[in-house]
Amino acid sequence: MNRWKIGVVAVAAALCVLVLIEQTPEQRLASLFFAALVFVASFLRIERGDTSVGFEAAIAFGALIIFHSPSVAFVAVFLGAAWPRLDRLYNAAQLALSYGVVGLLYTLAVERDARPSAKMAGFVLLLVGYVVAQLVFASVRRYFEGDASPIDFRRVLFVQGQMLLLVTPVVAIEVMLFERWGITSFAIAFVPVLLVAHSMRNEEDAAKRNNELLQRNREMEESWQQNSELLRRNRELAIVMESSTQILSAETDHETLRRLMSLATKLAKLKAATVVTWEANLEAAGTVYRFGECLPTDQEVLRWVDSTGFAQSAPSRAIVLQSDMRKFPLSGGDAIQLLIGVQTPEVIYGVLIFETEDRSILQAGSLNLLTLLVNQTALSLQDQLLRREMREKTILLESNAATMTTILDVSNSLIGQFDVDTALTHIAQSIRKALGFEVVVFSLHEPRRDDFVRRAQAGLDDVWEEVRKKHVSSESMQAFFNPEFHVSNSYFISHSVLRQSEHDFFVHPEHGDDQYLKPDEWHPNDILLVPLMSGDEMMGYLSVRDPHDRRIPSIDKVKTLEIFATQAVTALQSARQYEEIKRLTFIDALTPAYNHRFFQDALSKEIHRHGRTRHSLALAMLDIDNFKRVNDSFGHPVGDEILKGLVEELMQNARDSDVVARYGGEEFAIIFPDTPASSAHDAANRMRELIERRDFPLPALDRTLHITVSIGVAVYPHDGANPAELISRADAALYFAKKHGKNQVAMAEDVTSAEAM
Ligand code: GH3
Ligand code: MG
Ligand code: MG
Repeated sequence: MNRWKIGVVAVAAALCVLVLIEQTPEQRLASLFFAALVFVASFLRIERGDTSVGFEAAIAFGALIIFHSPSVAFVAVFLGAAWPRLDRLYNAAQLALSYGVVGLLYTLAVERDARPSAKMAGFVLLLVGYVVAQLVFASVRRYFEGDASPIDFRRVLFVQGQMLLLVTPVVAIEVMLFERWGITSFAIAFVPVLLVAHSMRNEEDAAKRNNELLQRNREMEESWQQNSELLRRNRELAIVMESSTQILSAETDHETLRRLMSLATKLAKLKAATVVTWEANLEAAGTVYRFGECLPTDQEVLRWVDSTGFAQSAPSRAIVLQSDMRKFPLSGGDAIQLLIGVQTPEVIYGVLIFETEDRSILQAGSLNLLTLLVNQTALSLQDQLLRREMREKTILLESNAATMTTILDVSNSLIGQFDVDTALTHIAQSIRKALGFEVVVFSLHEPRRDDFVRRAQAGLDDVWEEVRKKHVSSESMQAFFNPEFHVSNSYFISHSVLRQSEHDFFVHPEHGDDQYLKPDEWHPNDILLVPLMSGDEMMGYLSVRDPHDRRIPSIDKVKTLEIFATQAVTALQSARQYEEIKRLTFIDALTPAYNHRFFQDALSKEIHRHGRTRHSLALAMLDIDNFKRVNDSFGHPVGDEILKGLVEELMQNARDSDVVARYGGEEFAIIFPDTPASSAHDAANRMRELIERRDFPLPALDRTLHITVSIGVAVYPHDGANPAELISRADAALYFAKKHGKNQVAMAEDVTSAEAM
């Protein structure tokens, strides 16, 4: 409490004590009696801010008029209105001082024994003074309390005037009754005032309580609204915080959208929703994801979304459709529908159709938040798309690198590999592994018969022995190497253009009709051929079947296949070159027989091999009889032709394993591996007979010539333990045959025994 209030109370208390001492006993008694009445009235005081309605006025004014003493009124009000609390005390002091001041004015202005009219005039002055005093006190309080708000004079006048109007007749009655029956009747006259005051006070209290209740209600409502707003914002904040971690961390499109839905449903409980997403190429139908009770079928959703043109331009902010405004309801009954494009500024990934019964979604904050979630979803989808593309590219690059490595490996492995079949088999296996074809076959052109022979394969092990025997005529293949089937430098012949008779490889698919095939699906009867071209010459072709991915190979794959084909051509060319070099190195310059060097090597190898197997081998030395005469008679060129013809005859009739070599001049050697003496004699004699019978043409003379040969045969190990010995024994036998009449075969064994004789 302020010091000035304490001051006012102290002054009033001091005055009260002073007045009580100064008063006559009769006055003092009246003061205390009136104080008791004021005490009762004070319970019914009505406070209204600056003004207050106090019914002590009826007592104070009555006492003033009756006793003509401001001190009685002052003491009565001070003691009666006081309460054992400083605030009450201050009010009591203020009231008492007001009454004291106006009482003083009244006693000064009106005589104690004045006429009633004068007293009434004085009473009016009293009332005016009281109101002025009230205003003064209100102003003083404001001043001390630093309250800048202006006093509502009209209200003060109205309320105090109302009170004084009520009090005036009461005072008159009190004064009258006092004169007749003294102070008791005065008190009784005060009773109706108390009753009125009580009801006024009740009414006032009720009004006040009402007001308070209203006020509290209003406040509660406000705070509730603030609270729910805060709650909503909190929830939204939580959703935003969750969304960035949840949506952006999802691994798949479906997971992303599922998380979007679980967040959206926190915002407004989801009733039904669908998301349609498009792949990069708009031609393909979109993917439909469904959530909640989504009534339309996927097809219906796709058709409707297609008709809206959202793929070209989707709403970037939510389009809100009230229940009956929905053009494409997802759920039955009432629901608000929202349409938002799932898009980044660059790409439209899809569209969200969201239905809820919760109207709180219509708040701007919620709509913005939902849009934000959908935008994040679009970013997440974009992220996943990029990651998928990157993965695919990486896989492609890796597979390309693997193919390149295989190609390099093949190239390296072909170095020093002059066996065509081995080289082609290796390439076929590499193609199978690197490009994923179940079956790879190399067929080579055979110029002598003009057909194709399957020479190497991968994936045909089970049937290979059978397959390789079937040759394919050049003529029948010609139908496939048709420009209309051209793909890069290869030929793709779709099963649909084939008739069964055209290809002996024809497969019968399990389901006869191929209407289930996708446009790029490989059919078991499709044919892909890569010709093996060496300049203009087709050396053969590569054919592949049954790609593991069941797709018709892409142009890139065909081109890779062609790289392998080129390697095959290179292998074939080097094999050919090798054959040529071999021929130059080991074949005789004039005839197709092996040369002397090869003969020496072969004989050593055979002896070495036979030493291990313990099989015998035979060596025949052959010399043309009287060849000098042939030369002399027809010239050397004719002699040369005869040498060639002779070798031809020998080679045609020798076994594959026999080695026919020109030993020198018109002398030849034949190695018969795995041949015992008796068989060797027969073989040599057969050769001798063949030559004897052969017609050697003499075109210049238009006639034929006949020649004979003499042959000496030695057998390993019986006749010699090493090549030199064997050759010399065979030579000796030859010499023996010449000596004994030519055109015959002599065995080394017989020569020895003949010489011994
Ligand atoms: P013989 O029955 O005793 O063997 O009598 P021959 O005349 O065949 O005698 P010989 O074997 O000694 O003769 C070798 C002759 O073979 C000498 C040479 O005129 C002929 N000759 C050797 N090499 C060639 C060749 O490369 N071409 C031709 N045209 N003649 C050759
Ligand atoms: Mg000779
Ligand atoms: Mg001779």
